[in-house]
Amino acid sequence: MKKLILASNNKKKIEEIKGILEDLNLEIKSLKDEGINIEVEEDGKTFKENSFKKANEIKEYLLKKGEKDFVVMADDSGLEVDYLNGEPGVYSARYAGEHGNDDKNNKKLLKELEGVEDKDRGARFVCHITLINDLGKSTDFAGTVNGRIIKELNGKGGFGYDPLFFNEEINKTFGEATKEEKNKVSHRGKALKILKEEIQKVL
Ligand code: IMP
Repeated sequence: MKKLILASNNKKKIEEIKGILEDLNLEIKSLKDEGINIEVEEDGKTFKENSFKKANEIKEYLLKKGEKDFVVMADDSGLEVDYLNGEPGVYSARYAGEHGNDDKNNKKLLKELEGVEDKDRGARFVCHITLINDLGKSTDFAGTVNGRIIKELNGKGGFGYDPLFFNEEINKTFGEATKEEKNKVSHRGKALKILKEEIQKVL
């Protein structure tokens, strides 16, 4: 069975991805499972640049270790808010300064949107995924989902901006949604659905 290494340290994101890909004939491992301790600097200007950089650096590391017959999958994702001209965008994870502090990021977002009417609070989550195999063959996949930033946190599920992101298709926030409901409409769910259909090409 071929090994698929997920280039992420975000536990909840890894769980989400493992859940969506579980029926593929792949041994799915996280960086932690593999004892890989590399922090790739996400200094690209686009989600696509960042996801490629992450996947490629992990691939190079594994090749140096003498590993063969693997695929690395990296994703870069974030929230784009219309009123904020697409911010936080590639800075979503560290919007309030500290990497991955969801609480602070949500507070900052609410502050930036203080006094802004519902009709101007449109937003979308974007996900970009890169798959790269040990021979350097890479493919990209993208997914987006539209929604609106509500005025206070609602729901305890998911991660990141989920409790503030209201999606009309499911008529609730991603924080209130079950994993299955979120995966069906989400940016990551959509990108992974295409990836599942195409993955044979890079295996
Ligand atoms: P990444 O791990 O560099 O892709 O950063 C993604 C950041 O964007 C996360 O830390 C969250 O703040 C935000 N984000 C991405 N996807 C989601 C999602 O599905 N729900 C909520 N927030 C998300």
